[in-house]
Amino acid sequence: MRAVVTRPGAGQAWVADIPEPTLENADDVVVEMLRVGVCGTDRHVMARARADVRGLPPDADYLVIGHEAVGRVMRIGSSVNTLKVGDIVVPTVRRGCGECEACAVGQADLCFTGKIRERGIVGLHGFLSERIVDKAENLIRVPDELAQVAPLVESLCTPEKALRRIANARAHLPVGEPLHGVQRALVTGAGPIALLAVMALRLRGIPTWALARSPDDSLAARLIERAGATYVPLGRNLTVLGSVNANHDDWLAAVRDLSEMRRAFPGAVEALITHTFEMGDVDVAFERVPGQIKAVIDIASA
Ligand SMILES: [Zn+2]
Ligand SMILES: [Zn+2]
Repeated sequence: MRAVVTRPGAGQAWVADIPEPTLENADDVVVEMLRVGVCGTDRHVMARARADVRGLPPDADYLVIGHEAVGRVMRIGSSVNTLKVGDIVVPTVRRGCGECEACAVGQADLCFTGKIRERGIVGLHGFLSERIVDKAENLIRVPDELAQVAPLVESLCTPEKALRRIANARAHLPVGEPLHGVQRALVTGAGPIALLAVMALRLRGIPTWALARSPDDSLAARLIERAGATYVPLGRNLTVLGSVNANHDDWLAAVRDLSEMRRAFPGAVEALITHTFEMGDVDVAFERVPGQIKAVIDIASA
């Protein structure tokens, strides 16, 4: 089957013929991939020489890239009872180290050893291929109506975790929703994650300002305004709280919020996907072009 592969440091990706994934364990699921988003991480994987031994999957001299994906369940192992053939699913990305307390309880986003693997990024093949196999527990069911935009779930689960952390940090305050009394929010940047963060804050009714260097007539600025936030064209980054990656609950929250965003801000979620490519366009699909928010590669039609 066809896949988009790279070698760390190769500086580019290309289409290759790789072996079909098979059901090896009773809890495995084979997924036919529909759409895969491309992002800056893919460019890092290709560009930066990640010479450590975890860079490539065992016994492979290439890495299938892609980690922002949606697909349709094709085959299920004999013990799988949470998914059925035809379900639309989003695969999660990070897999635990198998050693630490955090990973043992499904919180690989907090891994203490750093020996995590991430599909399409480090140590495991990604999703830019015609089919993939993964354990059912790593596949998040999404409503069929989200199939086109579901590569954004991976981007959205990161701000979902940040919102969860903000709520946790304020949980001692004697005020309730939204987020234990958050009265205003500032989001820096105007990429897909920032725009989804703005929409997630606005869904909760929080007055939100977004600071970025994009011109105030850019699509990103217009989408920020459409979500009812205020866009401030500037370039100053203010870091208040660091948050990286997400846990299973954050992925579920992302699916829920993506549905809500489509209702609350009609057309805005779809407008985040500014460019679509096919697998054969791999030479241009990873280039950053002006006005691009999110590019996706269509693998099969949804
Ligand atoms: Zn990404
Ligand atoms: Zn760990």
